[in-house]
Amino acid sequence: MPQQNPIPRVLIIGAGIAGMQAALDVANAGYEVVLVDRLPSIGGRMAQLSETFPTLDCSQCILTPRTVEVGHHDMIQLVTYAEVESISGDAGHFQVRIRRHAAYVDWDKCTGCGLCQEKCPGKAESDFQRGIGKRKAIYTLSPQAVPNKPVIDREACIYFQRGKCRVCERLCPTQAIDYEQQDSFIDVEVGAIILATGYDIYSMENMPEYGGGNVPDVIDALAFERLLSASGPTAGEIKRPSDGKVPKELVFIQCAGSREPEKHNAHCSKVCCMYTAKQSILYRHRVHDGQAYVFYIDIRAGGKRYDEFTQRAMEEGNTVYLRGKVSRVFRDGDKVTVWGADTLSGRQVQIDADLVVLAPALLPRPETRRLAEMLGVGIDDAGWLVPLNGNMNPVETNRPGIFLAGTGTGPMDIPESVSHASGAAAKVLKRFSTVDKSTPIR
Ligand SMILES: Cc1cc2nc3c(=O)[nH]c(=O)nc-3n(C[C@H](O)[C@H](O)[C@H](O)COP(=O)(O)OP(=O)(O)OC[C@H]3O[C@@H](n4cnc5c(N)ncnc54)[C@H](O)[C@@H]3O)c2cc1C
Repeated sequence: MPQQNPIPRVLIIGAGIAGMQAALDVANAGYEVVLVDRLPSIGGRMAQLSETFPTLDCSQCILTPRTVEVGHHDMIQLVTYAEVESISGDAGHFQVRIRRHAAYVDWDKCTGCGLCQEKCPGKAESDFQRGIGKRKAIYTLSPQAVPNKPVIDREACIYFQRGKCRVCERLCPTQAIDYEQQDSFIDVEVGAIILATGYDIYSMENMPEYGGGNVPDVIDALAFERLLSASGPTAGEIKRPSDGKVPKELVFIQCAGSREPEKHNAHCSKVCCMYTAKQSILYRHRVHDGQAYVFYIDIRAGGKRYDEFTQRAMEEGNTVYLRGKVSRVFRDGDKVTVWGADTLSGRQVQIDADLVVLAPALLPRPETRRLAEMLGVGIDDAGWLVPLNGNMNPVETNRPGIFLAGTGTGPMDIPESVSHASGAAAKVLKRFSTVDKSTPIR
C-alpha cells in the first residue's frame, strides 16, 4: 500500500513565545498553521514581563512585532480563548476538535474600540496583573492584546449575576455584544502537532514559611514584573500593594519552593538567578535610594554574558547578596520581617523590609497533563512533557508527528524557548517537505 501524504498543516497548542516562534517558522515556509491558546490573546508569560535579561530590552517592544505578525499572517489561523477538546488519528492525519469558549462578544463585529471596557461597572481581580490592580468584567488582557477583542467574565458581570446592567451592549457602536453566545467547535485535520503549553509558578499559598500568600507585601516575581512594567497597574512605579508606599528596603528570596525536595519541589527553576538580578537592577533604576538584598543558595548564571549580568546587579545595582536560606517571613507592623542565615559569615540575619519578592519554582501547567494523556505523550512525575531523548531528540516525543517546544518541557529562558521552538518547527517542515505544495489541502 502506498503511504498517504501527510496533511501539510500543523496544530500548535500554546501561543507563548515558543508557540509563536514555531508558528512563524512553519507559516513562513508556506504551510498552514492552526495556533490555539486558552487565553483571549497571545504572547504567554512574556507579555507580563517588564524588561528581559541580559540586555534589558523592553519585553513588550520585542514581543509586539511577533504578536502582530502572527495575528496578520495569511497562513496562521489564530484560535484564542480556546482549548483542544479531542484528538484522534496518527502522524500525518490527526483529527482535532477545538472548543472555543463563549466570549459573549461577536469578534467579527467588534472593532476593538475599548468603549465597553471604559464604561463597564463590573470589576474583578486581574490574573494578568497577578492580583495587583483590577480589571473590568469585560476585558482584554493588556492594551497591546492580539487579537484586540474583549471577553466577558460571567462571574464579574453584573448582568450575568443580577440580570441588570447591559451597559456594554448599549454603548457598543457595532452591536457586537451577544449575551446568548455559546461555546463553538472547530474541526480540523492536521499532519503534525506541536505542544507549547509553557509553565506556571508555584503558588505562595504552598509556602507558609513565606507568609502563605497572606502577607500583602510579600509578592511573587511575576507580580513584581507587573509593578516594573510601564503598562502595569502602577505604570512602572514601584509601590507596595498594602499602602502604595515606595519600598526603600526590598528583599528577594530565590529558590522559593525550588530545590527543596522534602517540603516543596526538587528541581532548579533555572531562570530565577537571572531574573532576580534583573529585577534588582531595575528596582534601583526606579528607586535610586533603595536597598535590595538577595537571599540565594548559589548563583546559577550559565549563559552568554549571564555571569557578568549578576555581577552588574551587585556592583551597579548595589544589591547585597546573602548566601543562605530564609527560615521565616512575617508581617510586623507596617514592615515585613525576614529571618534568614548568612552561611558565609555564619550569622543570623534579620531584615525589616518594606517589600519581599519571592522567586517561586516554575511548574508545568496542570492542564498539560490532560493533553499528554489524551495524546499518549510522555510526562514525568512533576507533569513536565518528556522528549523522546533529552540529549539527542529534545523536541520529539514517543508519538511520531507530535513535537515539543518551550517551557512545557522544563524551565527555560526566552532565547532557549525560541531555539527549542525553531527545532520543533524544523522537524515539522521535514515531514511536510515530501508533500507537493500545489496539492489542495483537505
Ligand atoms: C518572573 C519571571 C521573569 C522572567 N524574566 C525573563 C527574562 O528577563 N528573560 C528571559 O529570557 N526569560 C525570562 N523568564 C522566562 C520566560 O518567561 C520564559 O522563558 C518564556 O516566557 C517561555 O515561553 P513559553 O512559550 O515556553 O511559555 P508561556 O509563556 O507560558 O506560554 C505558554 C502558552 O500556552 C498557553 N497554554 C497553556 N496550556 C494550554 C492549553 N492546554 N491549551 C491552549 N493553550 C495553552 C498559555 O495560555 C500560554 O499563552 C522569566 C520568568 C519569570 C517567572
